[in-house]
Amino acid sequence: MLFPPFRKPTVWGYHMTADLSFFDQVNKNFDRAAAMTEHPPGLLEQIKSVNSVIHFTFPLIRDDSSLKVIHAWRAEHSQHKLPTKGGIRYAANVNEDEVMALSALMTYKCAIVNVPFGGAKGGVKISAHEYSVGELERITRRFTFELNKKNFIGPGLDVPAPDFATSGREMAWIADTYMSLNPHDIDAMGCVTAKPVGQGGIRGRVEATGRGVFFGLREVCIIVEDMRALGLTPGLEGKRVVVQGLGNVGYHAAKFMQEEGGAVIVGMIEYEGSISKPDGIDVEALMAHRSETGSILGFPGAEDLPSRDVGLELDCDILIPAALENAITMDNAPRIKAKIIAEAANGPISSDASAHLFERGVMIIPDAYINAGGVTVSYFEWLKDLQHVRFGRMEKRFVESSSRKLLSAIENSTNRIFSDQEIAEIAKGPGEIDLVNSGLEETMIEAYHEIREIKCAKGDNVDLRTASMIDAIDKVAVSYRELGVFP
Ligand code: NAD
Repeated sequence: MLFPPFRKPTVWGYHMTADLSFFDQVNKNFDRAAAMTEHPPGLLEQIKSVNSVIHFTFPLIRDDSSLKVIHAWRAEHSQHKLPTKGGIRYAANVNEDEVMALSALMTYKCAIVNVPFGGAKGGVKISAHEYSVGELERITRRFTFELNKKNFIGPGLDVPAPDFATSGREMAWIADTYMSLNPHDIDAMGCVTAKPVGQGGIRGRVEATGRGVFFGLREVCIIVEDMRALGLTPGLEGKRVVVQGLGNVGYHAAKFMQEEGGAVIVGMIEYEGSISKPDGIDVEALMAHRSETGSILGFPGAEDLPSRDVGLELDCDILIPAALENAITMDNAPRIKAKIIAEAANGPISSDASAHLFERGVMIIPDAYINAGGVTVSYFEWLKDLQHVRFGRMEKRFVESSSRKLLSAIENSTNRIFSDQEIAEIAKGPGEIDLVNSGLEETMIEAYHEIREIKCAKGDNVDLRTASMIDAIDKVAVSYRELGVFP
């Protein structure tokens, strides 16, 4: 099927209002996609609604003995499949609307990449860097206690993961707290994902979201007619890329784009400013520079740009916003020069900016698809925790010995002698990391073609965001229809 170019003549669907809340924006996208489906209004309303949301307040005794009241939220957007799944973020601007919006995106994201979970999200309203490690641990353990008390956590109920300013460390605290509160639950380890490997985690989870961004973009860029429509050559090799946010997602996306895709990282944007280097920024060297100096600025050979946000406007082929939501709004969208924007962060483009960019022929790879690598590998981790055995453990040796027998049979019948290195490479049995990466690659490729096919079928006026939302709505609708509740 021919893929229509990412250009369209008229405005559709989006309203150019700048002050919609994040959840309103997600719902606006939902409504536009829903209007292109045949599902009854009641079913669509059910899919769109947040099933449960809870606001916690609890005290923290700070290191200086003062008392701080902590606000935290957990939203379970859709329990059409259990457990629900979604990260916990620590940020000063966390609020109920944001947590609900992100939980809804998780429902759609899981559906898009065929991960059998409902969507959820949690947030704690703190600037993590203003708290000591001990204080963060007390906050995390108390939040877990509150979630457990209200039945908002559990391997079959609701399974958190990291998000902005949280990582494996916080996940290990959550697992430890949950397990001490539920000592008889043999599957307790599956209450949270992205744990350190020694604490029930899985190899490949830390880098999974960034690796998924790379797999997704590689698939996007391989399709000749789509690249022609954008005036680009097929393939990632040599593509000029700008990345915003050098955290977990941005760093890994940049690293894999550079090391495995052959892309050239021409710009980087971090909290402290932005830099440009048209002949390419060595990502590892920049990370080393930042940990030594505390800043990406002053990186040898790169130009420090006058402001942080001007980096988003650099001339490039692919822009990867991987920091926070609303990085691109109508304030800067008219100056964005990228031809492809991969929404590695959640909600980095406001809905009016999204419409404007689509009008201009920019291809936006939506967050609900492109940053789904994390939840995909979290799903693999959850399966590992439930089956209590590492992937590859049962079959690695068996595959190796069968392959060696096959090679030996080939040698005997053809007189072709394989070198030790060839045998080691060909007969290698899959370890956990191989299976995880292969499962992630398959997931990202398959899901992209599913949404692209919907886009092709719906025609020029439909962007990938709408196509992916139609995909998600159709899949969640199937679940509800199978319950027999809706006709
Ligand atoms: P992180 O905390 O590891 O990294 C975020 C980075 O963005 C930090 O380095 C921070 O300094 C930088 N940053 C913050 N504000 C900035 C600004 N205004 N300009 C430039 N840089 C800025 O967080 P993360 O886990 O990488 O998450 C980033 C985004 O990706 C979030 O939107 C999150 O919801 C989304 N996401 C994360 C995952 C995951 O597995 N971690 C999965 C899916 C989506």
